[in-house]
Amino acid sequence: MKSVVNEDICVSCGCCIKVCPKDAIDIKKGMYAHVNPDLCIECGKCVRECPASIIEGEFSRRDNKVRFKNWYDYLWIFTIVYFSLGFFNIIFAWLGMICFIVPLLFAVFKTDKGFCNRYCDRGQLLGLLGGRLGLSRKRDAPKWMYSKAFRYGFLIFFFAMFFVMLWNTYLVFAGTKGLSQAVTLLWTFNVPWNWAYHGNVIAPWVSQYAFGFYSVMLTSTILGLLTMVLFKPRSWCVYCPMGTMTQAICKVKTRFQR
Ligand code: SF4
Ligand code: SF4
Repeated sequence: MKSVVNEDICVSCGCCIKVCPKDAIDIKKGMYAHVNPDLCIECGKCVRECPASIIEGEFSRRDNKVRFKNWYDYLWIFTIVYFSLGFFNIIFAWLGMICFIVPLLFAVFKTDKGFCNRYCDRGQLLGLLGGRLGLSRKRDAPKWMYSKAFRYGFLIFFFAMFFVMLWNTYLVFAGTKGLSQAVTLLWTFNVPWNWAYHGNVIAPWVSQYAFGFYSVMLTSTILGLLTMVLFKPRSWCVYCPMGTMTQAICKVKTRFQR
């Protein structure tokens, strides 16, 4: 049985592309995955890999190893380097802006989710830890997790928290609040991080933003790791706010181009 994607609920994460040995899958304009039935050999790897479990087809248990084919398959190293640098010097947290800006550029200018589908370092790390290293239970994610209500609700919540972070940065910039040398995990727990702050050369608001952004990156990685262990390796991809937002941009752009 050739694989068929439920296009209405596909989150266009691209996890299926990575495992297909025949390059039979592509993401249509950043909106949903499509399987070319002429290329599909019914191996079932995509069925097994899809974090939203929305591909119908053969379900083979053979060989679901992560394939390394291109230079960008090794970008998971960036996640490790990023968190290591930020552990010792918080200013490096600004590098995380790459993961915010590049997906948006792909969606706005190319109408595709190239960042999610190929270059996302965090998705790759989750795939590696949960896939090759076997740290995932590889269970189906619950349906609510890839429902539109949850995905868009989480997107709104995430950006509300992001604007709180920006507001705190503004207060430090305006001099009405002191610099907080702490990282906030899961938007709740303040963890002292003062060893990563190295003095007064850089304006305090720059460091405040770095602490806030590092908190956002660490929090989303923790959530990704938790859902990786509980469900399929890249379950984070189904509700990642950047993935939801870029898919929405692609859908809106495609609608206006028609
Ligand atoms: S949700 Fe992701 S893995 Fe599943 S079909 Fe869509 S693009 Fe492929
Ligand atoms: S079943 Fe195998 S060959 Fe067919 S689309 Fe899925 S991964 Fe590719």
